Amino acid sequence: EQRNIVLNVNGIEVIYNHVILVLKGVSLQVPEGGIAALLGGNGAGKTTTLRAVSNLLRGERGHVTKGSIELRGERIENLTPSELVQRGVVQVMEGRHCFAHLTIEENLLTGAYTRSSRGEVAANLEKVYNYFPRLKQRRSSQAAYTSGGEQQMCAIGRALMASPSLVLLDEPSMGLAPQIVEEVFEIVKDLNAREKVTFLLAEQNTNMALKYADYGYILESGRIVMDGPASELANNEDVKEFYLGVG
Ligand code: ATP
Repeated sequence: EQRNIVLNVNGIEVIYNHVILVLKGVSLQVPEGGIAALLGGNGAGKTTTLRAVSNLLRGERGHVTKGSIELRGERIENLTPSELVQRGVVQVMEGRHCFAHLTIEENLLTGAYTRSSRGEVAANLEKVYNYFPRLKQRRSSQAAYTSGGEQQMCAIGRALMASPSLVLLDEPSMGLAPQIVEEVFEIVKDLNAREKVTFLLAEQNTNMALKYADYGYILESGRIVMDGPASELANNEDVKEFYLGVG
């Protein structure tokens, strides 16, 4: 079955501080309704790739110096992060970044897109609570006093408040117990199936990512060294040896 390409990253190079070449020609495609995983070890360039797509490199003194990035055929390299949000592209940053002193509900409301009507905001909030019942229970708690899993859910929930069609999810498993990681991924899968949200997720937890993604890209030192359907990668001997810890 042929699906439309939502995100087309074509041979991008990224340089930090005008000298450090971190991405050396990365290409990847994410189809409409897909869950694509960007895999690889520490420092491989996963976060940099997501930041290039959501145009969040500038604050890090990073620049895309070659290649192109297209969203449904439209070049997006020169759009601001907020213009990207308007087009449905939202990034969930690594390390969660909830506002510690705000309640869960206040955090979620910061994600509401400024042009949404009050009715839309209320409907989105209900939808988020529907997917994350834990957040509803904790809606009045200060984020600082909630668990790591709840903060990760809050970060994803906040992204959903902008009614995204493409979510860039950076290391959702980071620092979480395996059972909680599973819970978060189950919700991602649900959002993908029922809300038709497309995901590009960066993960060091190869095992978990390949269980939930439908396609994977393996990044090593700024280059894609392997890609394929998740089930094929999960059964590939090199992937098993180097990334799944089974030799
Ligand atoms: P991690 O899981 O640790 O986040 P990653 O695969 O996401 O790893 P990146 O964060 O994209 O990797 O980093 C890729 C490379 O770019 C690393 O060598 C890192 O040291 C370097 N790098 C990242 N941010 C900057 C920056 N602002 N300035 C200079 N170099 C940077």
